[in-house]
Amino acid sequence: MKPQDFPDDIRTHLIPEPTGEMIYRCLECGAEYGITELLYTCPKCRGLFLLEDKNEARLKERPGVFWRRLFDHRKMLNLPALKGIFLFYELIAPVIPLADIIYLGEGHTPQVAANDELAGEVGAAFYFKNDGQNPSASFKDRGMAAALSYLNFLVRQPGAGRLLAICASTGDTSASAALYAAYLGDKVASAVLLPHGKVTPQQLAQPLGSGARVLEIPGVFDDCMKVVESLADNYQVALLNSKNSWRIRGQESYAYEIAQWFDYDLAKKAVLVPIGNAGNITAIMQGFLRFQDLGIIDTLPRIVGVQSRHADPVFRYYLEPDPAKRVFVPVTVTPSVAQAAMIGNPVSMPRVIRLVNEYHCRAGAGSVAVVQVSEQEIMDSMLLANRCGHIACTQGGESLAGFRAALKAGLIPEDEVAVLDATAHHLKFIGFQQMYFEDAFPPEFEVTPKPEYQNRPQLLTPKTGDPEQKTADLAGQIAALLNLTPKKG
Ligand SMILES: *Cc1c(COP(=O)(O)O)cnc(C)c1O
Ligand SMILES: [Zn+2]
Repeated sequence: MKPQDFPDDIRTHLIPEPTGEMIYRCLECGAEYGITELLYTCPKCRGLFLLEDKNEARLKERPGVFWRRLFDHRKMLNLPALKGIFLFYELIAPVIPLADIIYLGEGHTPQVAANDELAGEVGAAFYFKNDGQNPSASFKDRGMAAALSYLNFLVRQPGAGRLLAICASTGDTSASAALYAAYLGDKVASAVLLPHGKVTPQQLAQPLGSGARVLEIPGVFDDCMKVVESLADNYQVALLNSKNSWRIRGQESYAYEIAQWFDYDLAKKAVLVPIGNAGNITAIMQGFLRFQDLGIIDTLPRIVGVQSRHADPVFRYYLEPDPAKRVFVPVTVTPSVAQAAMIGNPVSMPRVIRLVNEYHCRAGAGSVAVVQVSEQEIMDSMLLANRCGHIACTQGGESLAGFRAALKAGLIPEDEVAVLDATAHHLKFIGFQQMYFEDAFPPEFEVTPKPEYQNRPQLLTPKTGDPEQKTADLAGQIAALLNLTPKKG
């Protein structure tokens, strides 16, 4: 729709100007820093940052109904910069001029309802919100769109020069970072650090195809993270891990979209999210809290984080019911099919603790929970979902396994409608399906295939060497196999 065709009260706000005043605020000591520096943790105390808009009070001058109308109308505007996560421009990064925003088709991913068969099997109605339908096939694109738009803005500042963007990854962060950096061409080079042999062939192929420098080191993700942190401390590099608070801002859009999908009524809704580094769950909680601050939603949805038994430090932390006695202890991970969430020492843990407290204060003690699931449950749930028309990855399977566990434990009442985060596309983690079908899981995964979920191709060979009769022979074999009824007459 053309700008002149929007209602008068909307038109003047439709295309936003950068009116924010953003700074980095240290979560630990409260110090503030300018955003033109390449900083990821507090130089004084090494605390994590949150991005803060010192001018955010101006947004509160308008009622929730204004923002709802604005965001709903903006969906009809054909301006690429505002087509993705920046539809919610005022809440994401209102300092970046629209000309610097990169849009590669991220965000506004579909929310697909479970069919009767699947809902029946699980025992409640729910949706998958398919973040695998982002350009690099995972939710990481939401955060990268924000982080790389900000870098694009930064490199245009006087004296900025060319930047090297670097990240450690369980696979999807690097695929996404490399894609967005590639779009920026010569202005931003990218290098990614991967744990050797711990990402899927698809995830390795992605940054290679985008032309990034791909460096592999022995160990797991946590080892890569330490190296990248050392680089960020000592050299001029832009760090694209989830310590990067611009990414968290971008990932808040997942929460905004769920709110918009339900016409801003989030009563009796629950959102289930797999937890790895805990960037995503903190972004989603923060998104809902900020929407409530602005009166855009009244009710906060329930949040349930999900972890595999093979990588469950956040679950363990919340096992202790007394907040005063909780101590965070990193765990050593063991192989998990939810490989993108296989993290023993989540960098965003301080953000989790803070946001869960805030959520509990506002929405009550049961409003955030963390559940634990087995590798078997993750695989079985993923396969079940996909046999019912979904495209969930193993982490999406983890969300479903968590939903079933939460229902069983009575953490989610049966009349609540759940939205499950399918964080990546099924095809990125296809090797795990293959292992299940071929019963080829190494013992440490602890997965035994259920025959009813297994599937394999069946090779047919013609019983005749005569090329004239080959087609008829194969058709005959197939008709017999599938029990086809011959046509009459
Ligand atoms: C990164 C990732 C996760 C974990 O998200 P965190 O923000 O690290 O908690 C889960 N699933 C997929 C597919 C991912 O790429
Ligand atoms: Zn500090």
